[in-house]
Amino acid sequence: MKLTELTIAAARDGLAAGEFTSVELTAANLSAMENTRDLNAFVCETAEKAQDMAAASDVRRARGADLGAMEGIPIAVKDLFCTEGVRATACSHILDGFTPPYESTVTTNLWDAGAVMLGKTNMDEFAMGSSNMSSYDGPVTNPWRAGDDGAKLVPGGSSGGSAAAVAARMAMGATGTDTGGSIRQPGAFCGVVGMKPTYGRCSRWGVIAFASSLDQAGPLTRTVQDAAIMLGAMAGHDPKDSTSVNESVPDFEAALTGDIKGLRVGVPKEYVVDGMPGEIGELWRRGVDWLKDAGAQIVDISLPHTKYALPAYYIIAPAEASSNLARYDGVRYGLRVEGDSLQDMYANTRSEGFGAEVKRRLMIGAYVLSAGYYDAYYLKAQKVRARIAQDFHDAWETVDVVLTPTAPSAAFAQGEKMDDPIAMYLNDVFTVPASLAGLPAISVPAGLSSDGLPLGLQIIGRPFDEETMFRVAGVMEREAAFTAHPMTGEA
Ligand code: GLN
Repeated sequence: MKLTELTIAAARDGLAAGEFTSVELTAANLSAMENTRDLNAFVCETAEKAQDMAAASDVRRARGADLGAMEGIPIAVKDLFCTEGVRATACSHILDGFTPPYESTVTTNLWDAGAVMLGKTNMDEFAMGSSNMSSYDGPVTNPWRAGDDGAKLVPGGSSGGSAAAVAARMAMGATGTDTGGSIRQPGAFCGVVGMKPTYGRCSRWGVIAFASSLDQAGPLTRTVQDAAIMLGAMAGHDPKDSTSVNESVPDFEAALTGDIKGLRVGVPKEYVVDGMPGEIGELWRRGVDWLKDAGAQIVDISLPHTKYALPAYYIIAPAEASSNLARYDGVRYGLRVEGDSLQDMYANTRSEGFGAEVKRRLMIGAYVLSAGYYDAYYLKAQKVRARIAQDFHDAWETVDVVLTPTAPSAAFAQGEKMDDPIAMYLNDVFTVPASLAGLPAISVPAGLSSDGLPLGLQIIGRPFDEETMFRVAGVMEREAAFTAHPMTGEA
């Protein structure tokens, strides 16, 4: 088998058995990156750094030193993570040339666990979007194509480059961030596993902020087991992030027992939405059957405030973004466009530096936070958010996990939905509720659409119970037996 086809778990075993070195594994991924540049998944390749890190890992192994959980495994990093000495621009013009002098906690944890950095991946500007079309570095092309149709498809967003890189076998795993679905939705669109942990599980320190009460880092990988391994390395308490929770990190991989007998799986009736293709509903029903056949108990549940999740999210996230992005003023970092006065310089920098989607969010955010509208919009949205969290809280009385589709469609063509922001926002209808409630959730590739495109199913878990979520996801992955390959469509 080609080295780039290996899972993280298999590569770990191969490295341990001396079948190949990290230098070889890394070289294989670097050459796949070179050969697949047309997808535009990477915005920065750090080949030299990768080779050095891989060589250092091989030396550690030869010495028999303490080996980390990701020892020698080459991965990609979303451009939202600050990486010391390597560009971090959130794929925005306004952060042009920004090279952080420090490393985010999550990436530090990964390097401490032995992982090797391949480069930075493309994303929607400031992680706002569901298609990767808003990147200043240009769109990412999904490695999957629909049937005979040659149209280029979006990889989903905002972690589109990370999902495409993992799907196209350029990286064994990648970091993503998820504010309202940005790991899970691109995972579903690219046929890979995308996992968002409980809010507070991974440190946000050094992750360029979008909406701080929602942002969470998580892994994109080709299997559930790989997601468990990689999350274990990313997670942990960090005193530098006051919202990082002081909980010990369980052995997520050990949770994959394959046994879900007696577990209660909730199926929420509100997740049937207008206009959803029939095949998504069918896949969802198949998912229910798989889990039932594996011994789980299926429970019909109601999450009554679901329909308010999307409107609440599109008030809260822009509100927080408008506050977080106020710091980009041309003074401290990135782009600066001079003007006649200080005010002009601010205005010129911000109007040239931000793209259309970011500006839309900043205007919505400033509006809903303004005196006179605060109570009507922002405060109301916060109350709705509390109701949504309460819905899940009530559901946990009768179920252990919740099963839903990940997205209401398969990947769509580049350029589609661009003139209709609301249509774009509707992509997040199934992912946003878990984000508002701070819950862990994972998208598992579960089948192909009639056009041959991957579709995902989502498992949502209790707060800080990633283990049960992983356990169910592992069983679903086994039952779905998704083996299709993006480039060829074949197993
Ligand atoms: N698509 C959502 C948005 O545009 C989610 C983005 C994200 O999770 N970062 O806000």
